[in-house]
Amino acid sequence: MVKKIAFICVIMAAVTGNTFAAEEPVRVAIARDVTSTYLMVKGSFEVRDMDNNRLVYKGRNLKKSLIGLSDNRISFPYLKKGVSGRLQITPLSGGYVSVNKRSYRGKINLIALDGRLLVVNELGLEDYLRGVISNEVAHYWPMEALKAQAIIARTYALYQKQFTKNKYFDLTSDVYSQVYGGRPAQRWRTNRAVDLTRAKVLTFQGNLFPTYYHATCAGKTEDSLELWKIDLASLKGVVCGFCADSPHFRWQAKIDLGQMKDKLVKKGFSIVDISGVEITRLSASGRVSALKIQGENAGIEITAKDFRQALGPDVIRSLNFTIRVISGIAYIDGLGWGHGVGLCQWGMYKMARNGYKHAQILEYYFPQSKLVARK
Ligand SMILES: [Zn+2]
Repeated sequence: MVKKIAFICVIMAAVTGNTFAAEEPVRVAIARDVTSTYLMVKGSFEVRDMDNNRLVYKGRNLKKSLIGLSDNRISFPYLKKGVSGRLQITPLSGGYVSVNKRSYRGKINLIALDGRLLVVNELGLEDYLRGVISNEVAHYWPMEALKAQAIIARTYALYQKQFTKNKYFDLTSDVYSQVYGGRPAQRWRTNRAVDLTRAKVLTFQGNLFPTYYHATCAGKTEDSLELWKIDLASLKGVVCGFCADSPHFRWQAKIDLGQMKDKLVKKGFSIVDISGVEITRLSASGRVSALKIQGENAGIEITAKDFRQALGPDVIRSLNFTIRVISGIAYIDGLGWGHGVGLCQWGMYKMARNGYKHAQILEYYFPQSKLVARK
């Protein structure tokens, strides 16, 4: 019987063109370091103890319930306290789980970690991408742009997954990996882009690589060696003449030096009363690489990456900026939005509008990469 089911699965895969590799699961952390979470299940579901895969509960339609911890174990309705520190909820036959009012495809893992709760959504890669693309670009963008975005999001997820085998999750649901919004984030056109590029990824010399992307480069993309010490021909940076119309081409920020000091101190830098800020080094692409922050008695040298992180990535939108200090206030004029490495999304948009195909867009921003279908 088991053999027969396996055989039918193979036939199904052949008919639909699916590959098993493309359906491999990804685990996305959707809530971290929380004390409790609201959970709701629509339809039939089962709950398993993840430590031994034992079925501990089977039911239907769980109404909104607060899930918390008791002695570092999950408290789940209908289960007596202290069953397990790791529970997996699997919806059956088309049901779904909602976490904090947001519904998700696939399974939900509840994990007790040092007295806090970690909530992970485990689902197929392609379903994950359906919850990502419309959060990363507008769903009404040209289809060739959406397809390029689907391919780099898929590649990025699979690349990251190589390093998380012994962890509880592969990706987070925020800007630090890719913004993932579960079922409500799905749109017809972005789903279509995922389907049309099914299993397609970018490789460099036969290997997956981190296909970074950002909103707007404002003229030139950055060498990944500058930010993450990744020396790769496909991530060396290119001239981009396509994002001049981006709404994120220019930005400005105004920061009081007292506030700047507080934010730097909070990140562990030792500085007293800032009197001046000076750019000391630029990268080859013209972005700020390092700064000197002059304090009352001594100054500190800080990388631009740390400076941006300390002040907030939405305040210092990119590392392409100039800075002037006048009467205790830093005035910053910048260009572009994001780290600048890899694909420029507004450049991608314009290229697609100008008739370029997704393969050409990817070739442009990731030179020497190869577009392949994963087997
Ligand atoms: Zn650009």
